[in-house]
Amino acid sequence: MADDGSEVQDAGFDEWLDAAEEGAAYCLECPEGHASLPPRRVCPDCGATDLEETALPDSGEIETFTVTHVPTPAFEEDAPYATAVAAFGPVRLTGQVVDVDLETVETGLEVELEIAVSETTGERVLGFGSV
Ligand SMILES: [Zn+2]
Repeated sequence: MADDGSEVQDAGFDEWLDAAEEGAAYCLECPEGHASLPPRRVCPDCGATDLEETALPDSGEIETFTVTHVPTPAFEEDAPYATAVAAFGPVRLTGQVVDVDLETVETGLEVELEIAVSETTGERVLGFGSV
């Protein structure tokens, strides 16, 4: 998990961040109902290629999280922070918890997508904010 957010994001994911920023986050759904995120062009579960954009629900639920007190260099200014996996409808997203008191972060907490900017690198990262 230490590398989350610091990897190079390609154009497809950048577009997805644009959409998410405007409250129009979506996933790619295949005819079998498997969901994935851009920039995929092939369903990771069954190999189908006719993926359709489906809007994500406005809020999701935290499934697991980790609180980081000793940051990696890329997030030096942001620590301590929590990284969580949250389920948004059919997809699971990994992101940094923002605008939520760390003591109140817990499994089952309802969150909404929030595109945050790392205070350290200035890059956009996927974040979860309180609903
Ligand atoms: Zn599929």
